Amino acid sequence: MKSLYDLTFNQLRDFCVDQGWKKFRGQQIFEWLYRKRVNSIDEMSDLSLDTREKLKEMFTLEACVVKEKQVSKDGTTKYLFELSDGSLIETVMMVYEFGKSVCVTSQVGCNMGCDFCASGLLKKKRNLSSGEIVAQVLAVQKDLDAVNDRVSNIVVMGTGEPFDNFENVMAFCEIVNHDRGLAIGARHLTISTCGIVPKIREFAKMQVQYNLAISLHAPNDELRDKLMPINKAYPLKELMAAIREYCELNNRRLTFEYILLRGINDQDSHAAQLAKLIHGLNAYVNLIPYNEVDEHGYRSVDRASAMRFYDKLMKQGVRATIRKEHGGDIDAACGQLRAKHEQQRMEGE
Ligand code: SAH
Repeated sequence: MKSLYDLTFNQLRDFCVDQGWKKFRGQQIFEWLYRKRVNSIDEMSDLSLDTREKLKEMFTLEACVVKEKQVSKDGTTKYLFELSDGSLIETVMMVYEFGKSVCVTSQVGCNMGCDFCASGLLKKKRNLSSGEIVAQVLAVQKDLDAVNDRVSNIVVMGTGEPFDNFENVMAFCEIVNHDRGLAIGARHLTISTCGIVPKIREFAKMQVQYNLAISLHAPNDELRDKLMPINKAYPLKELMAAIREYCELNNRRLTFEYILLRGINDQDSHAAQLAKLIHGLNAYVNLIPYNEVDEHGYRSVDRASAMRFYDKLMKQGVRATIRKEHGGDIDAACGQLRAKHEQQRMEGE
C-alpha cells in the first residue's frame, strides 16, 4: 500500500479530483500532513468520516520508528529508524548558526562501492520511496516542534546514491519544498551525487533551484578509479562535460566535495590538478575532514595539512571551505550507526 507521504501536492490534488472530491481537499490533506503534522488520518478532523475511511483504505501513514537516538555535545542528533519492512536507516540533524539541517538517507545500503565509505559496507537492499525520505524529515521536525524550532535545510547526503533513485528523490524534494507544507526553500536543499552522468544531465535540464554537490575526492582518473568505482563508468572527462552543461543551463553555484585522505589525495600536486580541473566554473570546493571508518584503513589529514591544501586552492583562484565537523563524539560517519546495528543483528542471529 502507498503512503500518503509518497504523494506530491499535485498528485494528492489529482487523486482527490479523481475520487470526485472537491479540489481543495488535496490541499487540506497536504496541510494536515505537513503543517499540522498529524500522526493519523483519523486526526484530519475537518474531513468527513467517509473521506477518512476511504483514505485509510488506500493509504498508510507510516512514519519512521526511532530505534536509537544519539545526541552529541554540539547538538548533532543521529537517528536510527526502522522502516515497515524492518530495514534500518540513518538520519542526522545538524545545528548551524543559520538553522537546523537534516541529512537524509535515499537508499537502504548503497552499491556505489566508494572505497572509503561506511555506507557501502552494506550493499543496496532497495530504494527508499519518496514517502520514506519525507518521513525522516517529519520525524526530526516533530522533535523540533517541541522546542518551537524548524528544519531549515536538507542535504541528501545520507546513505545511498540519490541519482540512483532519481524519481523518488525528486518527488521528495518537491514535497518538502512545497509552500503549503514544510516549505523548505529550494535553495536550502542540496543533492549530492558521486557522479552518475546521465542523471546529472537530466537534473540540469529540469532547471530546478535545488543545489547540486558533486563528490569528487580525486583530481585525476587514476586516483578516482581507485577511490570511486563509478569513475570507471563515467570518467572525469565525461563528468566534467556534464557539469559544464549543468552550469550553462543553471545559474547556480555548484559544490565539489573533496575528502582529504592522508597521503592519498592531499598533496600540493593534487591541489594544482584540482584547480585546473574546475577552472572557470561557478563552483567552490568543500574540503571534508575524513571520518575514519575502522574497516577501511584510510586516515584523515590534520588541521595544518587541510589548511595548506586550502591555501593552495585559494592561491589558484579556487574558492574553498573546510567543513566543520559535527557530532565527533557519536557514530556520525555515514553509515556507521547502521553498520554497527546490522553487525549486532548478525551476531544475535
Ligand atoms: N552517494 C552520494 C551521497 C551520499 S555520500 C555521494 O556520493 O555524494 C555523502 C558524502 O559523504 C559524499 O561526498 C561521500 O563521499 C562522503 N563520505 C562518505 N564517507 C565518508 C567518511 N567516512 N567521512 C567523510 N565523508 C564521507
